[in-house]
Amino acid sequence: MSLKYIEEFRDGELAKGLVKKIRETSKRDLHLMEVCGTHTTAIFRHGIRSVLPKEITLLSGPGCPVCVTAQKDIDAYVALAGIKDVIVTTFGDLMKVPGSGSTLAKEKAGGADVRIVYSIFDAINIAKENPAKEVVFCAVGFETTIPTIAASVLTALGEGIENFSIYAANKLTTAALAALMETDGVEIDGFILPGHVSVITGTDAYRDTFETYDIPSVIAGFEPIDVLKAILILIEQNEAGKPELVNAYPRAVSDAGNVKAKAIMNQVFELSPATWRGIGEIPDSGMSLKKEFQAFDAAGKFGMNSLPDVPEPKGCACGEILMGLKTPEDCRLYKKACTPMSPVGPCMVSSEGSCAAYYKYS
Ligand code: SF4
Repeated sequence: MSLKYIEEFRDGELAKGLVKKIRETSKRDLHLMEVCGTHTTAIFRHGIRSVLPKEITLLSGPGCPVCVTAQKDIDAYVALAGIKDVIVTTFGDLMKVPGSGSTLAKEKAGGADVRIVYSIFDAINIAKENPAKEVVFCAVGFETTIPTIAASVLTALGEGIENFSIYAANKLTTAALAALMETDGVEIDGFILPGHVSVITGTDAYRDTFETYDIPSVIAGFEPIDVLKAILILIEQNEAGKPELVNAYPRAVSDAGNVKAKAIMNQVFELSPATWRGIGEIPDSGMSLKKEFQAFDAAGKFGMNSLPDVPEPKGCACGEILMGLKTPEDCRLYKKACTPMSPVGPCMVSSEGSCAAYYKYS
């Protein structure tokens, strides 16, 4: 099947054919994890869960950047907003994520200078316009956004902007997969690997995990045909007992990925341990500023290095959902104490969050 135009990836007849094939091929219970939050949303939006045979269970994974941000980092963002003459800049989906005692949205309502930006370069401009203030960007994101954050740091350095810094809670999706496979109780028969992240990382980034765990893995795009095709490949590999790493998104993903973006990322950042909500600390799964860029490190600037862990909201199962151990419906707060209007955990806040997707579409 060689498709060229985007409409073809939404073709109803093709979709019906794939669903038929999935039903014919599926013979036993399989747990397939869509690693990326955008896939979770696409799967719900296109009604894909409802057409799959009952043997196939789709699990959401740790691919929603806001959802995996540790509670201590959310608290740090809220604390930064409370510091005099600090302007906190963030993408909108962090605003309502509950910290232990407050949210950025509440801090803003209470008078803190918290601004939603659409690009980190907006934060640089705010820093230029406000030389007497410190501007901090809440850097939450995966391989897709880290190169842009790195580029902004280089810009700030080049232009001598000293009142700009980032609080980095960046994470590498690729590192989380191995951690998941090592976790007791996690049952995954195949990964639908993230399309956007893979554009940067390339297929090669998954080879180690694939070779270590011998697990069926398919890089997929976000249209219905992309997702159905990935599910079919994973079922076929399981039935044949022949795991493979397949790039089913070749129109966007290459083996090597975006070499320039990776070079910028590695120029500014270095691997570091990172704390993931639900999973805990994973070595080499974060990206911290290199020594020569420490002037742009908000954690260092405001004495927030090595913050202790903070417990996640009581009763919230976000962490287990991100590991495929539970679904939102297993959480006793779902649709009761926790709704999009009054979220308890980040999985109900982010548009890529599993709980928000269940609430909206299921
Ligand atoms: S429904 Fe709310 S409380 Fe429950 S896991 Fe999801 S975000 Fe957490």
